[in-house]
Amino acid sequence: MTDFSTFKRLVIKVGSALLVDYESGTLRSNWLSSLVEDIARLKKQGLDIIVVSSGSIALGRQMLSLPHGVLKLEESQAAASVGQVALAPAWAKFLEYHDIKTGQILLTLEDTEARRRYLNARATLETLLKYGAVPVINENDTVATAEIRYGDNDRLAARVAMMAGADCLVLLSDIDGLYDCPPSQNPDARHIDIVEAITPEIEAMAGISGTTFASGGMITKIAAAKMAIKSGTSMIIASGREDHPLSAIQEGARHTLFLASENPVAARKRWILGHLQATGTLILDEGAVQALLKGNSLLPAGVSHIDGFFQRGDAVCLLTASGEEIGRGLVSYDFNEAQKIIGQKSSDIESLLGYVGRSAMVHRDDMALHDRNDYNAL
Ligand code: GLU
Repeated sequence: MTDFSTFKRLVIKVGSALLVDYESGTLRSNWLSSLVEDIARLKKQGLDIIVVSSGSIALGRQMLSLPHGVLKLEESQAAASVGQVALAPAWAKFLEYHDIKTGQILLTLEDTEARRRYLNARATLETLLKYGAVPVINENDTVATAEIRYGDNDRLAARVAMMAGADCLVLLSDIDGLYDCPPSQNPDARHIDIVEAITPEIEAMAGISGTTFASGGMITKIAAAKMAIKSGTSMIIASGREDHPLSAIQEGARHTLFLASENPVAARKRWILGHLQATGTLILDEGAVQALLKGNSLLPAGVSHIDGFFQRGDAVCLLTASGEEIGRGLVSYDFNEAQKIIGQKSSDIESLLGYVGRSAMVHRDDMALHDRNDYNAL
């Protein structure tokens, strides 16, 4: 049994087969309305909810009367284009019933990989959540070409969870979790309740190593689980076949829980410190160093000098006046813009740059400091 109240931010991925009736190609409205009731209840309990919704291709192909069978890329893109126009309002209508606003976000692989775009997408997500809206995300299938597509919303959802610092990702599909062998072929198949690490045995269960069997969608689900748990997000695979699928999980319906190895903030900080090549340096004044050590963002006023070359979203080193590195972070401005605003008040950014920029040079969520004990002397 998983208690959602132990989490703060949930990403819920909904598969096409749940949202769209296979026979008629139309939306399963009653089911969607029951899921949205669950979402509204969790939101009332204080959780942030982000939805990753598939279904545009399944809906659009029926609306365009496309032939059965596998679609060509351009056909599925056309179907997605038409289907998305129907999918988003369906979410909006049911959420509005609970007085909740919907924000549609269509992402490409690049939006989540290139740091500059990643920061923008993340800021939009944060702002939607701050104002109480539910972001409803899908891949931007209409423009994503074959080489640069996720192609599956399981991995897209894991990436979104990482981007949003969500602590739990729920994949709702037609299977209630991971089994040690295919339950359709083996009545003794054992359901796996909890996965603490993705070992070769677990991969084999999903058919990844090719040693046992392939169970279709399970491969991308395990790929999603790998991404999720590494970035501090626990992941649940649960069946969404019945109404009120989230309540069902809380009431004990069978599911598999993949436990995150650490919390999302720690994982993100490790990523910033360990996996990014810094392309520039910011030299901070003493006041700014103290402010950062207290957990604040770095404001332009606290930066006395910049070096190297960077673009918005790049990793930079944060140095004291005497050249000691206290941490690293993702910078909110390009080098040339940063040059104009360092040492200045955040309220002057608009007049200096000609547009309303971000108030922080490096936001605290995008910053990781080295171990504090090293700076006791500062
Ligand atoms: N983006 C696709 C759609 O909306 C779904 C991809 C998937 O189901 O994983 O139809």
